[in-house]
Amino acid sequence: MEKPFDDVRENLKRVREEIAEAAVRAGRKPEEVSLMGVTKTVAPDRVNAALDAGLRLIGENRVQELLQKRDALHLDGTAVHLIGHLQTNKVRAVLPAVSMVQSVDSERLARTISAESELIGRVTDVLLEVNIGREESKAGVYPERLEELLACAAALPGIRVRGLMTVPPISGSEKERRQFFSDMYKVFIDIRGKNIDNNSISPAMDVLSMGMSADFREAVLEGSTMVRVGSALFGPRNYLR
Ligand SMILES: *Cc1c(COP(=O)(O)O)cnc(C)c1O
Repeated sequence: MEKPFDDVRENLKRVREEIAEAAVRAGRKPEEVSLMGVTKTVAPDRVNAALDAGLRLIGENRVQELLQKRDALHLDGTAVHLIGHLQTNKVRAVLPAVSMVQSVDSERLARTISAESELIGRVTDVLLEVNIGREESKAGVYPERLEELLACAAALPGIRVRGLMTVPPISGSEKERRQFFSDMYKVFIDIRGKNIDNNSISPAMDVLSMGMSADFREAVLEGSTMVRVGSALFGPRNYLR
């Protein structure tokens, strides 16, 4: 008989295998790529099935949803990242609930996270979000503005820039998808090469967060170190639930 959430456990196994295959194909080690489960709209029981099966990283988009759900989650040993747009007036509420904010795309947000982190006596890991497809509707800085944002963020005492994040345009062909990811990888290598003093307690910028359910294999082939997978793990999202 099927147990509840067998589908989630099977998906987790398959996604991990596919990440490993793509890594090996690219001459990389599977351990170089971490898997984030994206839990927006997913009921806590379903998330817990994946956590109990060994998922160690989850991402939420909305502050309110995260704060409502987190007490019901089996978070022991699990990192929680905020991956959605963050308003400065929500920074204080969300910081204690997350170990990383992946969606920093303005000096104002960087300064707010730094100041609030100092108030609670910690340094918060952040990623800078890049709008690699230059879509007006999307968050993230354009690549040519990245160095300026990094220089500002790197000088702030309450945050540590750990790398970059991107959500590329939805593209039809595998070739197009790989092109955005390889463009992003170049931006990542280039900005790391500039070696801007990064308040480094840990190894400087080592995270390149890219790849979602539809395209995580291509992202791994092109150098992603963290894929953010929602529907391929938890099934289609139901925003009405
Ligand atoms: C929803 C979301 C994902 C996961 O999307 P899927 O296509 O369901 O894998 C990844 N990253 C961000 C920023 C998201 O908002």
